[in-house]
Amino acid sequence: MAEKILVVEDEPAIADNITYALRTEGFDFAWCSTAEEALAILAENGISLVVLDVGLPDRNGFDLCKQIRKSSALPIIFLTARTDEVDRVVGLEIGGDDYVVKPFSPRELAARVKAVLRRSPSTGNATDAAVVSSPFVIDRTKLKISYFGKPLDLSRYEYKILEVLVGRPGWVFSRDQLMDLVWQEPEASMDRTVDTHVKTLRAKLRTVKPKLDPIQTHRGLGYSLKESL
Ligand code: CA
Repeated sequence: MAEKILVVEDEPAIADNITYALRTEGFDFAWCSTAEEALAILAENGISLVVLDVGLPDRNGFDLCKQIRKSSALPIIFLTARTDEVDRVVGLEIGGDDYVVKPFSPRELAARVKAVLRRSPSTGNATDAAVVSSPFVIDRTKLKISYFGKPLDLSRYEYKILEVLVGRPGWVFSRDQLMDLVWQEPEASMDRTVDTHVKTLRAKLRTVKPKLDPIQTHRGLGYSLKESL
């Protein structure tokens, strides 16, 4: 079955060009023009990648991306009209996978879609795929994580941090980003708190596998989960 791309773009002419190019490349697609509709479509699953316009009528595309990132590592390619936004778009701060700057060629965008899908861990839901291939098993209904078959006794924050890291092995999350993804009120905490929770989390992981440290510290950048465990 063709992979399904969600196009979130409020200008119909641009959306038409994009969906035409995607169809030509053999992709299936869904199109919507607001963040609210996008969340409803994503809740149904079956989407392999999101093409996301930054300027949406109801909400900023960056906010939408951050919200998606709380529960999913689904690949996201931003459409932006401003080159000065580009640095923020991809990587740590917002969590996008790639971007194209308007005006762009729809064929170039389709090529980016292919490239991003190729390097993402799976078609479909990347988070689930990553969980399956690692020693971690996440039970999101019970908010429990087991490690090499042993259930971990985690605090709420430890759980959230580990869930974020496990959802995207090899991806470096800055302390700010972890805080955004994990804390309800990010302003109330400070960087140090992330370090403290990672420290206790590591201690708990060590009780299962004393010689293995699956969490990597990147000096000045943040933390990631090791890709091969
Ligand atoms: Ca727009």
